[in-house]
This record gives sequence, C-alpha cells and structure tokens, in this order.
Amino acid sequence: RTAELREASLTDALTGLRNRRYLELRLRDDLRLCLRRFEHSQTPGPDSDLVLMLLDLDHFKQVNDAHGHAAGDAVLVDLAQRLRLVFRETDSLVRWGGEEVLVLVRETSRDDAAELAARVCAAVREQAFDIGFGQTVQVTTSIGFAAFPLDPQQPQAWDWQASLGLADSALYAAKARGRDG
Ligand code: GH3
Ligand code: MG
Ligand code: MG
Repeated sequence: RTAELREASLTDALTGLRNRRYLELRLRDDLRLCLRRFEHSQTPGPDSDLVLMLLDLDHFKQVNDAHGHAAGDAVLVDLAQRLRLVFRETDSLVRWGGEEVLVLVRETSRDDAAELAARVCAAVREQAFDIGFGQTVQVTTSIGFAAFPLDPQQPQAWDWQASLGLADSALYAAKARGRDG
C-alpha cells in the first residue's frame, strides 16, 4: 500500500508519465552520477551524457477547440505510449506542463540526440491519433534538447538549469522555424 501510494504521488494520473516531483527526487543523483563520469576520466566513455529533451505539441489548442478537451486528453495518453516505444526503459518521461514532456535521456551520447529527436517527431507525425467516435487527428511536435554537462571540458561550469534553458530556447526556435522539428 505504501509503495503504491508513493508510486501514485510520483506519476501523472492522465498519462502515466512521471511528474515534476519525481524529477526533483531523481535529478540530484542523476547529475552526480553524470559528473562523476566526466571528472574521473580524461576521456569520458561514449555514453556519458545526460540529454534533456523538451517537447511541446504543435497547435494543440486547435485540437481542443475543434474536437473537445476529451479528444485532447486522448492524444496525450497516446503520445505517452508512443514516447515509451521510442525511449529506453531507463529514460524518464516527465509531464512537464499541459502538453509538454521533458525526457531525461540517460547514459547517452549528445551526438545521437538529433537523430533521437527526429525519431520522436516521426512517431508523432506518421500516424494519426485516435480520438474516439471513429475520428482521428494529425498532430506534430516540436523539440528542443541540450546535453548535461554543457561543456565536457568544464563539467561544473554550468548547472542543469542552463542545459534546460538551452533546450527551452531550442524548442522555441523549432516553433519559430515552422514546428515539427
Ligand atoms: P504551439 O504550437 O505554439 O505550442 O501551440 P499550442 O496551441 O500547442 O499552444 P500552447 O502550447 O501554448 O497551448 C497548450 C494547450 O494545451 C493549452 C491547453 O488548452 C492544452 N492543454 C494543456 N493541458 C491539457 C490537458 O491535460 N488536456 C487537454 N485536453 N488539453 C490540455
Ligand atoms: Mg505548451
Ligand atoms: Mg503546444
């Protein structure tokens, strides 16, 4: 029972994704582990990075406006399922805001992040979302990402909020450049 309650308190009820509380609990250990890989070796291994990936569905208000809030909810539930298929079990999918998800991609390489983000865009774009009553909607997503540590040569120079800020700026840039990117 206690374990169940604890699990529920760290999970978003609609999507089953993790919530911000979960992130607050986990992040400190993640950052410490990650920094250790950079500090105790001159050449960190190929999968030493933590990548913060922030995604925000495109024109999601229009989905709600055209089809109703329940349809929007159905899209979010399906989105969570699609993200689980793209990311690894060891990554954390956090419902960051309404239709925004922050993914903690663990033990990865920053060089692979663009390809991973492109796979997420494709997973959202390539199949219409079922919203019930035999109806579907086309949805796309925009993504911004940044690695932690920002500078592998100076792992302590910037904190994780700097990485998150950069991911957020990149997301904003993707929106400005036409979305779905
Ligand atoms: P943009 O491409 O610029 O992101 O456009 P947008 O319409 O997606 O704009 P924005 O991200 O600002 O709006 C998010 C909308 O998502 C607002 C709100 O109606 C909707 N939303 C947020 N949380 C939920 C939810 O839990 N369920 C539903 N159905 N809609 C939600
Ligand atoms: Mg948003
Ligand atoms: Mg949006």
